Amino acid sequence: SREIRLRSRPQGLPAAANFELATVELAAPGPGEVQVRNTWMTVDPYMRGRMNDVKSYVPPFQLGRPLEGGAIGEVIASNDPSLKPGDLVQSNFGWREAFNAPASSVQKLNTHGLPTEAFLGVAGMPGLTAYAGLLRVAALKPGDVVFVSGAAGAVGSLVCQIAKLKGHKVIASAGGAEKARFLKDEIGVDAVIDYKATGDSAAALTAALAEAAPEGIDVYFDNVGGGHLEAALNAARPYARFAICGMISMYNAEAPVPGPANMALIIGKNLRLEGFIVSNHWDMMGDFLKELGAWHAKGQLKWRQTVREGIASAPDAFIGLFTGANMGKMLVKLA
Ligand code: NDP
Repeated sequence: SREIRLRSRPQGLPAAANFELATVELAAPGPGEVQVRNTWMTVDPYMRGRMNDVKSYVPPFQLGRPLEGGAIGEVIASNDPSLKPGDLVQSNFGWREAFNAPASSVQKLNTHGLPTEAFLGVAGMPGLTAYAGLLRVAALKPGDVVFVSGAAGAVGSLVCQIAKLKGHKVIASAGGAEKARFLKDEIGVDAVIDYKATGDSAAALTAALAEAAPEGIDVYFDNVGGGHLEAALNAARPYARFAICGMISMYNAEAPVPGPANMALIIGKNLRLEGFIVSNHWDMMGDFLKELGAWHAKGQLKWRQTVREGIASAPDAFIGLFTGANMGKMLVKLA
């Protein structure tokens, strides 16, 4: 069985040389253990933070050890009565083709008729991030004009759809003409800013936002930070709420990045900027899956995924998150 290990800590944009493909012998599962063959694994932007040797809300990855992350697989051998060969399970043992682990450390997956890999994207962690961030953190309410950055990605594309399904005006920002077309024609957002065409300076994005939403915005769902955040502060109407979900434009920065120059607007406009971590909103999973299931049943849900094949392609899939190689969820298909 093969796995991807962290060979060295990336400086700036991660490179192939930071990763290493290794082969390991898998023994039979021990007492209480299962052996799982992964069929899908996910690469997510938060993993970049774990590649740095700094304290955060999740501990750093260890050099020379396999990376970790969400995966879906099939039980092929079991030494525990709770699971049997053929069972579909979800785990945090991604970045490897197969593994042995205590049965209690994997979760049996009921797909409710959705494709299994949806549970790494639209019906999984990124999906709940969109739902909790928009509805709870930003406290979306009728009439709100919503601005979303990183809008063609896993989280952003669902934020746009939920806001449209609930009847809002939505302005989406993403990089490139193909993503802009997807957002406009398939998701049905009201306006798209292609930040790779306009440039991502605060001034350029402020002008683009003023054109798309001359009335201003009430909600900003931030996936990007930087110039996008500064432009959103300029466009905010009084009492606007910002769900600060991610700031991917600075994840590879090699020196501290200055904050928005217009922070003082928070005071006069009575703004609320609130960061959040999806794992603190797991209580919403039931409601989320119920609502998602209803949209899916009515044929209203559109999600995209970008799939790389084979464990050896996982580093490239991960690096692609920072160059915008993905439309919708970036995934690696393993078997
Ligand atoms: P995406 O599917 O959105 O993939 C990342 C996308 O980010 C790329 O496709 C790219 O799209 C965009 N991007 C990369 N670099 C830049 C840049 N310099 N400026 C602008 N856009 C850039 O990933 P996810 O949906 O998984 O995650 C989206 C955000 O949400 C990330 O910031 C992530 O860290 C955050 N997140 C936070 C969670 C939480 O609990 N708070 C949980 C999950 C995700 P493009 O082509 O448009 O540039």
